[in-house]
Amino acid sequence: MPAQNIDGVLLSQQLRGEIAQRAARLSAEGRQPGLAVILVGEDPASHVYVRNKVKACGDVGFLSKLEKYDADLSEAALLDRIAALNADPAIHGILVQMPLPKHIDPSKVIEAIATSKDVDGYSVLSAGELVANLPGFRPCTPYGCMKLIETTGIDLRGKHAVVIGRSNTVGKPMALLLLQANATVTICHSATPDLAYHTRQADVVVAAVGRRNTLTADMVKPGAVVIDVGMNRDDAGKLCGDVDYAAVAEVASHITPVPGGVGPMTITMLLMNTVESAERVHSSSQHCPSQATGMEPKPGVA
Ligand code: NAP
Repeated sequence: MPAQNIDGVLLSQQLRGEIAQRAARLSAEGRQPGLAVILVGEDPASHVYVRNKVKACGDVGFLSKLEKYDADLSEAALLDRIAALNADPAIHGILVQMPLPKHIDPSKVIEAIATSKDVDGYSVLSAGELVANLPGFRPCTPYGCMKLIETTGIDLRGKHAVVIGRSNTVGKPMALLLLQANATVTICHSATPDLAYHTRQADVVVAAVGRRNTLTADMVKPGAVVIDVGMNRDDAGKLCGDVDYAAVAEVASHITPVPGGVGPMTITMLLMNTVESAERVHSSSQHCPSQATGMEPKPGVA
């Protein structure tokens, strides 16, 4: 029987509906969630991503503050802007669109964002919170993958999950989230000698490589859940993932398509992290008004 499609568009719509309700409650109390998006330079893809994020904010009733700068903006000036946004009580999340121009050190910029507003979850502190099972913001793409896996109804406890890819933004946090959910986790990467040996034992496979046809049907255990994070182009220029979708769908129990799977979830989880951040400020200010200043305690995760 062909696999069930895991519909990221539908799940995103549902979650964004819930986020909009939470935002409306906060706004009614004068606490509208706010996301600041900083874009430096003229990278065309970045402009599209930023436009989508700003539109998504408007759709769920957030304040969005878009700051666009020329490619020659100095690193010091960018760090000054981040410091100002860290102190701005109307802003609950700060996102700096990558890539940055070469003269700006991206890690300095990421680390300059207050952990309490690091809704991308990319900072070393946020990563440490994930490793230590502490509340904090989870990177949006793996967080979205976990929500997609949840819809299958699979209990991850004791299941074997294989993550292909070990980037700091996708593969590693994905593996940690699966571990937190009590899966037994294997991480594969470019130096893994026999990828198929690992994936064939997996109840859940997450492919986050950036190379099409990395996961083919002969590499998948019948009934496995397959999550495809990859974004590639096929020979005809059409968007495709890392997974040979048509063939793997004949073997897996559940599979995400590309497009329409993980992609829409990434922005949705950014909105989720932002509304959570705003709620945290709200609840902490009810107990201690002096903390509603952008120096609020670290936010938690749903
Ligand atoms: P990345 O930083 O380039 O990492 C790719 C990972 O794949 C690396 O860990 C690499 O191993 C591993 N790898 C490369 N070739 C391999 C092979 N033959 N076998 C096993 N592992 C291999 O990429 P990323 O940022 O994690 O993104 C991965 C993909 O997801 C890309 O296509 C990206 O566009 C996509 N993505 C999609 C979304 C979305 O919203 N849908 C969000 C983020 C990323 P080494 O570490 O050994 O080099």
